[in-house]
Amino acid sequence: MTEIEDLLREDLRGQSPYGAPQLDVPVQLNTNENAYAIPDDVAEVIEGYLARQTRGLNRYPDRDAVALRQDLAAYLAAHGGPGLTADHVWAANGSNEILQQLLQAFGGPGRTVLGFMPSYSMHPLLARGTGTAFVDAGREADYTLSAHYVREAIGAHDPDLVFLVSPNNPTGTALAAEVIEAAYEAARGIVVVDEAYAEFARDPGSTALHRLAGRPRLVVTRTMSKAFAFAGARVGYLAADPELVEKLLLVRLPYHLSSLTQAAARGALACAPRLQSEVDQLKHQRDRIVKHLRAKGLPVADSDANFVLVGGLADAAAVWRAMLDEGVLIRDVGLPGRLRVTAGTEEETTALLGAFETVMAARPDLFEESE
Ligand SMILES: *Cc1c(COP(=O)(O)O)cnc(C)c1O
Repeated sequence: MTEIEDLLREDLRGQSPYGAPQLDVPVQLNTNENAYAIPDDVAEVIEGYLARQTRGLNRYPDRDAVALRQDLAAYLAAHGGPGLTADHVWAANGSNEILQQLLQAFGGPGRTVLGFMPSYSMHPLLARGTGTAFVDAGREADYTLSAHYVREAIGAHDPDLVFLVSPNNPTGTALAAEVIEAAYEAARGIVVVDEAYAEFARDPGSTALHRLAGRPRLVVTRTMSKAFAFAGARVGYLAADPELVEKLLLVRLPYHLSSLTQAAARGALACAPRLQSEVDQLKHQRDRIVKHLRAKGLPVADSDANFVLVGGLADAAAVWRAMLDEGVLIRDVGLPGRLRVTAGTEEETTALLGAFETVMAARPDLFEESE
């Protein structure tokens, strides 16, 4: 062991950082980014918002990001969260920072967060970074979660926080409302529903936003990284009871969200209806992937997100490699026989499906016999 390794916190020794490959490949469908660039008319609006901030960069930003929170609340109020105001909303550098702040405030050493893997790979890493013990309750054999399963797991582990993901990454499916309600009733702690993909759900009513009223321990986290094509800007947010939001101020860094980030996000929010048309196109491409690969005999679950989990692979790692050789980067999420593909533009999706066909024809041994 090196001297530095010796000095490192014991719980971090020998661990690896988050590392989805960032390879320079023609078709990149591996990190669930929005495939569409920001349209020119939207970019101009955002540039206007940014330009109005430049000369004031000598000053610290609004610590409490009030104007941005008002805009986010208005967006949520119009999309399944009636009655939400700036006091119910908090924003940070990506929903990853939101989740980290929730763990800093309500988790930490000696406390536990319960998750249901396979799910978002960052949840255990954020728990580790904040010294919170991550307990994985797993899922049912088909990767679904029932109210009964969730209730039992919470009863068995008595966690300080529960992380649910709906629609779930990497499986793609939204949770039934009764599962979220069961989790809330069974838990004594904070129940977080990570809704990074909410805008892509087949049923927009499946959001947990309208369950917030009367549930002060319930938190819904969202991101602008996916639906708003804003992954590079790093803007995530949550909706919760105002008292819970206030507690997060105890752990946030002062001025955590730069005035440029706040302004850019407000510009993008002003263009929400325009950006929604790209979301609709991605949903269309996602459904196209499901239909096409099913017709090829691959088991593929319906998806409420901008990605699809493809099954029926005899050797997932080899299929991943063969797809890369065809110029298409997809994601090996470590599930046996499965790979995750992000829906792209129409052209990218055509390239993805073409590459699948090429690989299936050239290497049938890499796929399971379809019935
Ligand atoms: C992509 C994703 C996020 C987004 O994280 P940001 O930090 O907002 O970019 C959050 N949760 C899940 C489940 C995701 O897949």
